[in-house]
Amino acid sequence: MESYDQKKAWLDEILTTILSKGSIPQGYKPAVPAVVDEFVRTSHSPHPARLSKTYVEPTNECNLNCRTCVRNVWQEPLGKMSDAVFDAVIDGLKAFWPSPTVFFGGFGEPLSHPGIVDMVSRAKQLGSRVEMITNGTLLTAEMSRRLLDAGLHMLWSSLDGTTPESYSDIRLGAELPRVVKNIAQFRDVLNTGFDAQLGIEFVAMKRNIDDLPAALILAYNLGAKHFIITHVLPYSTDMIDQVIYSRGLRDVGYPQPALPKPEGNDVNGQAVAAALRDMKITLAGNNRQTPLDHCPFVVGESGAVRWDGGLSPCVPLLHSYVSYPVERERFSRSWIIGNVAECRLDDLWHTPQHIAFRERVLDFKFSPCTKCGGCEMSENNEKDCLLNTFPTCGGCWWAEGAIRCP
Ligand code: SF4
Ligand code: SF4
Ligand code: SF4
Repeated sequence: MESYDQKKAWLDEILTTILSKGSIPQGYKPAVPAVVDEFVRTSHSPHPARLSKTYVEPTNECNLNCRTCVRNVWQEPLGKMSDAVFDAVIDGLKAFWPSPTVFFGGFGEPLSHPGIVDMVSRAKQLGSRVEMITNGTLLTAEMSRRLLDAGLHMLWSSLDGTTPESYSDIRLGAELPRVVKNIAQFRDVLNTGFDAQLGIEFVAMKRNIDDLPAALILAYNLGAKHFIITHVLPYSTDMIDQVIYSRGLRDVGYPQPALPKPEGNDVNGQAVAAALRDMKITLAGNNRQTPLDHCPFVVGESGAVRWDGGLSPCVPLLHSYVSYPVERERFSRSWIIGNVAECRLDDLWHTPQHIAFRERVLDFKFSPCTKCGGCEMSENNEKDCLLNTFPTCGGCWWAEGAIRCP
């Protein structure tokens, strides 16, 4: 029988393969908490017209200035969601049953919106599950209690480094000890009897990948039940060399990360099955049965509302921005179906153009731009070589599973 350490070693190898696609960083020895990642997904076949989760962007303003942030380079106007827009969001969501999960997040810091506690409370009153992501800097003990009292079910906090230096090197303007203290306070309040959970998000790149093992341990010690690892999408040329992926996982030239069959009778199969027994692990955002090249937002029956009321099919299409995946410049133009302050959210959601787009995404007959050498069509999301027109998704790294949102 394999020892516990040997079983863990198998898992370490799997995780390392996922992250580095074969090039194992020096000294990389992750210790894995009991639950690495429990990626929420629907158990039924996704329907293009169903709305199960709504990402609501309270603001695209933020108190930090992270190296990784798209806000450093984009040309988008900044603002906070008004009461009128949020009223329209709540009103529109009433048309859906069961009440969609409301996830407060997007591009910006939700806790910098002065009305965020009331927003959580009103989403909860709808009967929705309520989640949020924060950079953790504004998460005081008082704020933790107010959020939990308001009905928050799940709080995600970003934690991209485990030493004050490595953390502050990425999260410019933030201090690790303070953020860790804030998350610990949230855990302590949560443990006074609230039915809620904590998750940690780690944005993996060259400058912090050595911190990943310690980040897993830190998350575990902070009481996190979920841990999501995402690659970085470089939004500026100086971030290009931080990327630790190259092309899509189905590149012919790269080894395919594969889990050994868990039910096997051989020693290895038994060891892996034992190691994975308590874990729900996803590979690049997908479980083992799901092919890559699927959109986590459309498959997850999600939509997104921008701070100004613009409704999009997904978080990446909320804003326009340039990025440099695999060193090639790509301009992704936002797609706003309409504004919920001017037209009911449920009416916008069901427009034929939007439903047709979601059907197209579920089929995913887009050109495989994340795996291709590139051409001028891959420089934006206007059209592709399979004659798809705006917005095209073949160059989307969320669909590839490299970039992930909770
Ligand atoms: S905390 Fe998030 S929104 Fe704020 S600067 Fe950092 S990456 Fe951007
Ligand atoms: S594939 Fe990407 S761009 Fe297309 S709908 Fe999904 S997340 Fe949005
Ligand atoms: S659109 Fe261009 S980059 Fe995308 S798959 Fe076709 S040839 Fe390749």
